[in-house]
Amino acid sequence: MKWHQKSLTELGKALAEGSVTSEALTRYFLNRINSLSELNAFVDVNPELSLEQAFHADKLIQSGQKGPLTGIPIAHKDVFVTKGWHSTAGSNILKNYLSPFDATVVEHLGPQGAGMVCLGKTNMDEFAMGSSNENSAFGPAKNPWNDKCVPGGSSGGSAISVAAGLAPVATGTDTGGSIRQPSSFCGLTGLKPTYGRVSRYGMIAYASSLDQAGPMAKSASDCALIMNAIAGHDPKDSTSLAKPNEDFSRLIGLPWQGDTSAASQPLKGLRIGLPIEFFAEGLDKEVEMSIRVAIQILEGLGAELKQVTLPKTKLSIPVYYVLAPAEASSNLSRYDGVRYGYRAKEYKNLAQMYERSRTEGFGKEVKRRILIGSYVLSQGYYDAYYLQAQKIRRIIANDFQVAFRECDVILGPVAPNVAWQMGEKSKDPTQMYLEDIYTLSANLAGLPAMSIPCGMSKSQLPIGMQLIGNYFNEAQMLQLADTFQQTTSWHKIMSEISNSDVLGENNDR
Ligand code: GLN
Repeated sequence: MKWHQKSLTELGKALAEGSVTSEALTRYFLNRINSLSELNAFVDVNPELSLEQAFHADKLIQSGQKGPLTGIPIAHKDVFVTKGWHSTAGSNILKNYLSPFDATVVEHLGPQGAGMVCLGKTNMDEFAMGSSNENSAFGPAKNPWNDKCVPGGSSGGSAISVAAGLAPVATGTDTGGSIRQPSSFCGLTGLKPTYGRVSRYGMIAYASSLDQAGPMAKSASDCALIMNAIAGHDPKDSTSLAKPNEDFSRLIGLPWQGDTSAASQPLKGLRIGLPIEFFAEGLDKEVEMSIRVAIQILEGLGAELKQVTLPKTKLSIPVYYVLAPAEASSNLSRYDGVRYGYRAKEYKNLAQMYERSRTEGFGKEVKRRILIGSYVLSQGYYDAYYLQAQKIRRIIANDFQVAFRECDVILGPVAPNVAWQMGEKSKDPTQMYLEDIYTLSANLAGLPAMSIPCGMSKSQLPIGMQLIGNYFNEAQMLQLADTFQQTTSWHKIMSEISNSDVLGENNDR
């Protein structure tokens, strides 16, 4: 049985019927992780611990205490701290770090919560800084569609693990696009929730006012199931929102306005906003073409198209690359070699110990951002850069509210290009930053956004489209994404990958 091609609902059903055990599923995925280790998707596995969680899940299932996700394996981005597995955020400075507790997201999904089984920790750009996974202290990870190409970043390992069938689903985090862009590059459906929806407690901090956790999955309905387990108020995170829990699957399968009489027009009443700035210069023609075809499909399903404008889109790059490094420079000051993490072996005094530990522990991109962040926060530059960026951030958020008067959901590309070749952009950081143009503004505004597969390039690389919703409209976005996925089959492309060169001929391995 090719369990890696099954949806979460199908896996849940198989577990409930007893046609497979959590132990067997866990062994199956651990085997795949092992035999496809050349993808470098995982940075830590601990089969014994995974199997322990599987035994626990099997007991629950046998005693009839099964929830929709009980016993299903999952991979966690290494930015979430986990008891038992190393928690490194892709950095040498945390290389041997073992957390005494689980992040709230991990806890909600694991044995104390939904009963899922942790398969291990996935590769990522160091401290989630990057768009290609090339900034990882564990080395780059490979896109399963073409092993010469990047998987996207920073949640590259999570994207690979789902795309190559090493895990049925994975967690990611998105500070400026890190769930959506790797999802797009690897052919997945990924959701960045509204800021504050999902607890940041135990997520190793990058830029706290932007960081948000979410699912990376094979479909919108799988994303909804994970959201049901991870969303909700957490008193341990001061920016967590006190919103009542909701069922993110509740609108899946329903027409947009609940009118079941017009079956061929399920999206009747939905207004989709197309920002002019998202279809301007710089967007690859093939990417644009796939998205335009997807838009036609949505129109055919009854959606109404509206042109909208997000005039400050271009400014989202300088604004983000001032604010995110500013917050990072502050967050990363805790790595001093004293309390935890790497400490230099040789030093003469305290100052030198700090200096050497940080010099040896942090990678190049992280150092660059600490320097930028410290610079924009320093006296004399604060007003010119940091404060100015904060003001434009507010304007960007307001522009979205103006756009949402005209439409219910905004649609555009996730990234200007498909996955690029390894090494192509890593020498020039600004080249890489420019690739984030369509994803950054949703983080700056705190809005929910997702990536959905909508095509393939001639070079056989996945293309994704982006939906951006208004605050707390995740369920509606998932409904729209699911309707698209019921009509098209782009989200099923992952099963095709099983025949690709990277995975070899043997689909079952
Ligand atoms: N590429 C962006 C950065 O390097 C976004 C990363 C992220 O979302 N974690 O900051």
